[in-house]
Amino acid sequence: MTHHRIVIIGGGNAGLSVAGRLQRKGIDDVVVIEPRGQHRFQPLFSHVAGGVARASMAVRPQASVMPEGVGWLQETVMDLEPDADAVVLASGARVTYDQLIVCPGMQLDWDAVPGLTAALGTPSVASHYEFDLVPKASRLLRDLRSGTVVFTQPPGPAKCAGASQKPMYLACDYWRATGVLGDIRVVMVVPDPTIFGIPEIDRELERKIAEYGIEVRYGIELRSVDGANNTVEIGPVSGGPGAGAGFSAGSGSGSVEQLHYDVLNVVPPQSAPDWLKSTSLPAAGDSGGFVEVDPETLRHVRYDNVWALGDAAATRNSKSGGALRKQTKVVAENVLTLLDGREPATRYDGYTVCPFTVSRSTVVFAEFDDAYRLKPTIPFWTSLSRERRLSWLFDRHILPWVYWHMILKGRA
Ligand SMILES: Cc1cc2nc3c(=O)[nH]c(=O)nc-3n(C[C@H](O)[C@H](O)[C@H](O)COP(=O)(O)OP(=O)(O)OC[C@H]3O[C@@H](n4cnc5c(N)ncnc54)[C@H](O)[C@@H]3O)c2cc1C
Repeated sequence: MTHHRIVIIGGGNAGLSVAGRLQRKGIDDVVVIEPRGQHRFQPLFSHVAGGVARASMAVRPQASVMPEGVGWLQETVMDLEPDADAVVLASGARVTYDQLIVCPGMQLDWDAVPGLTAALGTPSVASHYEFDLVPKASRLLRDLRSGTVVFTQPPGPAKCAGASQKPMYLACDYWRATGVLGDIRVVMVVPDPTIFGIPEIDRELERKIAEYGIEVRYGIELRSVDGANNTVEIGPVSGGPGAGAGFSAGSGSGSVEQLHYDVLNVVPPQSAPDWLKSTSLPAAGDSGGFVEVDPETLRHVRYDNVWALGDAAATRNSKSGGALRKQTKVVAENVLTLLDGREPATRYDGYTVCPFTVSRSTVVFAEFDDAYRLKPTIPFWTSLSRERRLSWLFDRHILPWVYWHMILKGRA
C-alpha cells in the first residue's frame, strides 16, 4: 500500500491538465494512475477520418506528455473505497490519498446497439470515435465514389456529441471537389429535433447541409446493424441513458426505417466506465454512472475529499475538452483552497465548445453554456459562431500545438 497527497484517476486530457496545474502551484506529491502507454488527442480523430490529418498526429507516448514533477502509476483502477480514502488497483495493490480526483473519461457502449460489434469487423463499417478504427473510416470515406453513406450520432451523453457530424462535412467537401458528391446519398441520423440546438449554429449547419445535399433524420437513433447485409434499422429516440449530461433524452417523432449502406460511420452510445458505475460515487439511479459532483465546485456531494471533472463527471454541460479546460482551473483552485484550510469557492460556469469542421478550410465555432446559450470567449464577438477560415486555422493548426505544449502541462 502506498499513500499520496493527491491521486488522480485517468491520465487523459483532464487528468494531466489538472495534475500540471497542481504541480505548478507547488503541490509536490501528485500521482496519476493511467494504464495506457500512449496518450491520444481525440479532437483530431475527426480530422483524420475526414482526410485532413494523419493518425500519427493524434498520439504521443504517455511518458512524453506527463507534466514534469508529476508521478505516473501505469496501472488500472478496479474499485474505490472512499470511506477508507483508498483506490484499489487491478494488481490488487491499494493506494490511499488525501484528495482524490476522478477523471477516467467515458466508455463506448458498442453492445448497446444490436449487431454493431459484429458489424465493425465487416469491410464497410467504421467509427472515428475509436482510435483503431479511425484510419478505416478515413479510407472508406476517401474511396467512396457512389452509393449511400450513413453517419450516426447517439442519444444521451457523448464526448463532444457534435463531433459525430464532423467527418461527414469534411468528406462532402472532398467528394464535391472530386466531382462525385452528386452520386453519393448522404444520410445523417441525429437524436435531437434540430441539428444542434442553438438557432445561430443550426442556421450555419443547415446552410452547409443544404449545400452538400445531406438528408438528415431528426429525433432518430440507430436501432440495429446487419453487417452481413449492409443494412441498418433506425427509429425514434426512445430515451437517453439516464441522468448525467445528456441533452437528447426524449421521444423522437419519425418512423422506423431500414437503410442500405455502402459505408456506415457509427458513433455509439456512451456512458461512464463500468467499474465506476459499480462504485458509490455516482448518484443512486444514474444509469449513466457519472460521478455525483456539485456541478459548480466539482466537489463530490457526499465525499469531501473527492473531486471529478471531464467526461466522467455528472456536470450539466455538453462534455468536451474545451469544457474541462475551464474545469481544471476550478478543481485545482478548490483543492488548493481546501488544503489551505478554507472552503472551496471557485465555480465552473458551464462553458463548453464544439468546433464544427464544415469544410476542409472552415469551421463553425460553437461556444455555449449548460443551458445551450451562446457563450463566446471574446464577449460580443458572437459572429465567431459563423463559418470562418480563421476558426479552421485555430482548430486544425494552432489548437493541437497548444494541447500538447500548454493544456497538458496545466499552462492553458
Ligand atoms: C472523435 C472525437 C472528437 C472530439 N472533438 C472535440 C473537439 O473538437 N473539441 C473538444 O473540446 N472536445 C472534443 N472531444 C472531446 C474530448 O476529447 C473529451 O471531452 C476529453 O478527451 C475528455 O477528457 P477526459 O480526461 O475526461 O477523458 P479522456 O481524455 O478520455 O481520458 C480518460 C483517461 O482515463 C483512463 N482510464 C480509464 N479507465 C481507467 C481506469 N480504470 N484506471 C485508470 N485510468 C483509466 C483512460 O485510459 C484515459 O487515458 C472529442 C472527442 C472525440 C472522441
